[in-house]
Amino acid sequence: MKRVFNFSAGLAMLPQAVLEQAQAEMLDWNGSGMSVMEMSHRGKEFMSIAAQAEADLREIMAIPANYKVLFLQGGASSQFAMIPMNLLRGKTTADYVDTGDWSAKAIKEARRFAEVNVVASTKEGNYTSVPAFETWQCSADAAYLHYTPNETIRGVEFPWVPATGDVPLVADLSSTILSRPVDVSKYALIYAGAQKNIGLAGLTLVIVREDLLGETVVGTPAMFDYKIHADNDSMYNTPPTYAWYLAGLVFQWVKQQGGLAGMAAINQRKAEKLYAAIEASGGFYNSPVAANCRSWMNVPFTLANAELDKPFLAEAAQAGLTTLKGHRSVGGMRASIYNAMPEAGVDALVSFMQDFAQKNG
Ligand code: PMP
Repeated sequence: MKRVFNFSAGLAMLPQAVLEQAQAEMLDWNGSGMSVMEMSHRGKEFMSIAAQAEADLREIMAIPANYKVLFLQGGASSQFAMIPMNLLRGKTTADYVDTGDWSAKAIKEARRFAEVNVVASTKEGNYTSVPAFETWQCSADAAYLHYTPNETIRGVEFPWVPATGDVPLVADLSSTILSRPVDVSKYALIYAGAQKNIGLAGLTLVIVREDLLGETVVGTPAMFDYKIHADNDSMYNTPPTYAWYLAGLVFQWVKQQGGLAGMAAINQRKAEKLYAAIEASGGFYNSPVAANCRSWMNVPFTLANAELDKPFLAEAAQAGLTTLKGHRSVGGMRASIYNAMPEAGVDALVSFMQDFAQKNG
């Protein structure tokens, strides 16, 4: 067996220890005589798996007791609609920060339900920076403010949390959740698709302050109502049980890495190594992103000579370094180095990049 270092932006690598545990438990989970996939979601075995996963997540993220944790489906993209449906709460306006392709998608979807006020946009600069908070044109009466702390496609990550005062703060943490500590109490709602740092596609995590629930826009379907999910412990319908179980294994693995502080130390080291290699290449490789907001999770870079893109990708793949092609809207390369990317993977990439630059520079 040979496993590659997969730099995909998501679906992405999973920790090997998690895959091994899932494999060991595949046919018979804990003496139940069944795989987790075959269990009733209302049986005592799965109920214990679900409760443990939530307890571990609450511990890792230090989620305050007045927040609900929801294990939903539909991907982060469904949240683009669920957020206005649930959080407008009688208001008409919502504030959005536009820092990249995912913010733009969230904005587009919110416009179905709300008057969207874009408080700041970095589109003109090709989404390579974070707009200074002092420049934001916030509305007087916004129902909430939405932003994307980490833009997966262009690798722009906020190094600070906006201080929105009484305006509920909503964050799409899809590509940065569990990578470093967050102060959940600063947010009204955090959401994330699971397929990057949590586990399997098909699960969407929502962490929401309880007092915001219960007032949806007219016509909101039951499956889009947070309160219905919260009142039913995320089992209003059949939940994505295997993805929930696997998320639980990942939460335990994160604990073993020293929790979010431990993950942050490893992630910072990995990211710094990669950015340092780009900087040290004498212009052979370049980062398009402003230095103060370079993502720890998604590292886009270009080769000064774009004719070398193809050979770079082909030789990298041969060396077991896969899925380095940048998003089709950006070009160049992108190395996604989520929690499960071992430091050895980053070391191997750095050394490959150095060799390639030497040969072709
Ligand atoms: N937000 C961000 C920041 C993302 O990276 C992605 C997926 N790459 C999405 C939203 C959409 O997620 P999903 O595919 O789970 O709907």
